[in-house]
Amino acid sequence: MYLYNSATRKKELFVPNNPDIVKMYTCGPTVYHFAHIGNLRSYIMEDVLEKALRYAGYNVKRVMNITDVGHLSSDADTGEDKMLKGARREKKTVMEIAQYYTDAFFDDCKKLNIKRPDVVEPATNCIAEYINIVSTLLEKEYAYVSGGNVYFDTSKLNQYYIFNSHNEEDLAVGVREGVEEDTNKRNKNDFVLWFTKSKFEDQALKWDSPWGVGYPGWHIECSGISMKHLGEDLDIHCGGIDNAFPHHTNEIAQSESFLGHKWCNYWFHVLHLNTGTGKMSKSTGEFLTVSLLESKGYDPLVYRLFCLQSHYRKNLVFTYENLDNAAKTYQKLIAKIAGLNFDDAAPVDEAVLASLKEKFQKALDNDINTSLAITAVYDVLKAATNDATKLAAIADFDYVLSLDLIAKAKALKEKQASAVKTVGEIVIEGEGDPEIDAVVKARAEAKKAKNWAEADRIRDELKAQGIEVVDTPQGAKWKRV
Ligand code: AMP
Ligand code: ZN
Repeated sequence: MYLYNSATRKKELFVPNNPDIVKMYTCGPTVYHFAHIGNLRSYIMEDVLEKALRYAGYNVKRVMNITDVGHLSSDADTGEDKMLKGARREKKTVMEIAQYYTDAFFDDCKKLNIKRPDVVEPATNCIAEYINIVSTLLEKEYAYVSGGNVYFDTSKLNQYYIFNSHNEEDLAVGVREGVEEDTNKRNKNDFVLWFTKSKFEDQALKWDSPWGVGYPGWHIECSGISMKHLGEDLDIHCGGIDNAFPHHTNEIAQSESFLGHKWCNYWFHVLHLNTGTGKMSKSTGEFLTVSLLESKGYDPLVYRLFCLQSHYRKNLVFTYENLDNAAKTYQKLIAKIAGLNFDDAAPVDEAVLASLKEKFQKALDNDINTSLAITAVYDVLKAATNDATKLAAIADFDYVLSLDLIAKAKALKEKQASAVKTVGEIVIEGEGDPEIDAVVKARAEAKKAKNWAEADRIRDELKAQGIEVVDTPQGAKWKRV
């Protein structure tokens, strides 16, 4: 499998440190609010990566943190803790907020068929691990105490920036426009490992430490949780592209300084989902959540398909028009699969199945090319083979795509079977859409009244909507084409 590695800016052959187990770490959500569908784009594509690795035959151990402390509203270590803000907004405790939004996150994941990682660890569970890393960094003089906080000293590194080829000045947190400089820092990129002092004195969760009562910085949690469950080396680290700097850059700085060797080999970054007007936000514009899409009548898996249709390394623009197109594609795809014979008793043609699978695998092996992987499903439908083989291939691919293709097609077939209705003497068989049934019935009535012009007009009107009506001795049958 070839994967693009943001650390080297190249597509590279993926070779795990240990062929028996791929160690994968994912930055989890900050649970101060619902996840927006932009956040969930990242989790969908990371889910596909994990499943593609398993499909390729690897064992995977995947770990995800839950950020319930330390993620400040500013990257420059000067803002307020997001969790505290969330708790205040909802007049609840930080822990109540964390539980509520963690559950909400996994409910959304379930609706999107995102598999739960093997290990899910809240940041507040691992304070001892962070204290251990910070102590060692102080001993090794990669860290210093200033103004009550412990900072990582970026001047001790030969190379701090990993992911960017931009002008370093533009990226430096300390000089970003509108960001207040922390005068405790020796260098503008230094970051907090452990806070005991903040201008926001009312931090809810605090722990004792050798440097006083306080709380960990956001970056240290991912290093600590990853090492706790995956040890001293990591194959793949994932996250949205906004996490590359400073979060992942800082994770690398502290992890490698602590360990004294390279930590993670491949960095998988998902580009952003944007709205037509720009960045997706929880505070401005429409707060786009899975529940909101559902309330508007969209199946969450339509959103998953929408994400799979484009490559994870391209920005994706969300509009309802684009989502409607994905909904139509999904509906048509399910209808095509429902057209296969699920009772085909013919044996699966193993040679054909293997060649269909090879095409699918090839798409995934090329840096998780999900749109090509979807094309491979259409290739199955067009293949010169029996329906049993086609259904076996689609079920196999759906392990990775997770679009419920077989279950939805079966449900549609059942609906179609029960949609045979006798309206007076008029029998209509369709896909279970009452509105279209009514139009087809009107056409049948026009025919019965020998109003051929009206019957033809209705047939043309349906055709324009992509619906074909066939008259059979049993009555009118319609389907989407
Ligand atoms: P957070 O809950 O803010 O810690 O973010 C959770 C995940 O969503 C991280 O991996 C972010 O990098 C990612 N993310 C944030 N905004 C977007 C977006 N608009 N599109 C895709 N991923 C995003
Ligand atoms: Zn992280």
